[in-house]
Amino acid sequence: MLMRIGGKDVGGIDETWIEVTNPATGEFIDRVPAGTKEDVTRAVEAAEEAFDAWAKKPMRERGMILYVAARKVRDQYKDLARLLTLEQGKPIKESTDEVRGFANILEFYAGISAHQDGEAIQLGTAGDCIVVRQPLGICGAIIPWNMPVLIMGWKTGPALLAGNTMVLKPASSTPLTNMRLGQILEEGGLPPGVLNIVTGSGVSAGTAIVKNPAIRKLSFTGDCETGSKIRELAGASLKDITLELGGSDPMIVMPDADIDKAVEGALRARFYNAGQTCTAVKRLYVHEKIAPVFIRKLQERIEALTVGNGLGSRIDIGPMNSAEQREKISRRIEETRDNKEGTILSGGHTLKGTVYEKGYFYRPTLVTNVIPGSALVTDEIFGPVLPVMTIPDLDTAIREANNTRFGLGASVWTKDLSTTKRVFNEVKAGIIWVNRHLSVPPEVPFGGVNDSGMGRENGQHALDSYSQTKTLYLGW
Ligand code: NAD
Repeated sequence: MLMRIGGKDVGGIDETWIEVTNPATGEFIDRVPAGTKEDVTRAVEAAEEAFDAWAKKPMRERGMILYVAARKVRDQYKDLARLLTLEQGKPIKESTDEVRGFANILEFYAGISAHQDGEAIQLGTAGDCIVVRQPLGICGAIIPWNMPVLIMGWKTGPALLAGNTMVLKPASSTPLTNMRLGQILEEGGLPPGVLNIVTGSGVSAGTAIVKNPAIRKLSFTGDCETGSKIRELAGASLKDITLELGGSDPMIVMPDADIDKAVEGALRARFYNAGQTCTAVKRLYVHEKIAPVFIRKLQERIEALTVGNGLGSRIDIGPMNSAEQREKISRRIEETRDNKEGTILSGGHTLKGTVYEKGYFYRPTLVTNVIPGSALVTDEIFGPVLPVMTIPDLDTAIREANNTRFGLGASVWTKDLSTTKRVFNEVKAGIIWVNRHLSVPPEVPFGGVNDSGMGRENGQHALDSYSQTKTLYLGW
């Protein structure tokens, strides 16, 4: 597939390529240009050229284009989901949900496009003011490989509705579905140059987006360390910035919780997408009164999970997205074993056998008796590994939950309102779920605190973050 710049499919200027392979089989799927600084410059020029006409359209009209594109995405969801599974690895059911999630986001922004009011401020004898919403200009979007479709929606939906144009860079291992969605947006009526997609590495194309002074806002989702570098670089051209970074979400299970519901919640929220989700449950704190029965049930469910090619039927967990990601998890579990940092109750190994030979599969892993300070709980573990700790009371759970540099999400499983209130008030995170974990609907603001990032995606908040006000002061 080629890059999409100014409504045209184009190759990279230096004619080098990135191969996209299937993480379940190692097979070649397609190749995309390894875009460079010069390609980003071309994309920015196209975005500049498209800006005035796009920004002048009524918001309702822009919203209708998003709506038409969403219908087209729904019509083609099977092909899109298949493409996503091929390049990313996740089971087809998860890809289908993600593709539909993309359509949901566009529809949400189309829906609110009809009632974006400005303000009238009456100043008495000093006059009156009319305040209107305006786009920021050209926005940059940098997408990770773990949820490429949903995250493309989080960024394009509000940015384009607000009247901005965009240069978007997919992750190197998952560019294909992003490219296809870009084409569908254009088929839905998005004018050429409004959304430009430059493929390429983070170091080359990514850095060029971050540094380009014509890009007024950057929205980045990815790793904390990359986010930190990017923030520094983006500061040089005074860009507005949204950073959606890593997380180490705690899940707290209290004795009054519905145990079966909590077990299912933990299973989904940790092993969905082979554990490669920013808001996955990455640390589970269960009250000691219910720990034995909770852990037994959880172990049974984890051991029943089926691992395999995401295109297969009845597959719960696909491969990890790359050899590198799997290697990180393997190494971490070896260290846990060698340093006796916990008891590996289930999993803890890659998968052997011809079906698994060429893919990056890792058996879902349950670790108990994790010692405090283990890297299993201090680092972000981006794979199918669930560390479980027992806690004697809520005070300990809250203290441990906050014992992290991250602050994306957290959940508490309880029927008690005062427990809920304490967790909501005291745990540091952008979202607190109760008897649930992982849901991020398009209407709800989403983002983290501390090292998990800054700014919010989704909802009205994201639209505001891609807009600025302009005031007409009438002195009369
Ligand atoms: P990553 O930081 O390696 O890459 C993300 C994107 O940034 C890719 O497109 C990559 O090519 C690009 N990039 C890399 N280096 C760059 C640089 N120096 N300059 C510009 N761009 C650069 O992250 P990843 O491994 O793709 O994603 C996993 C991480 O993303 C995890 O930490 C996860 O928690 C986080 N994440 C956060 C959220 C959230 O909303 N908070 C959502 C999903 C994933």
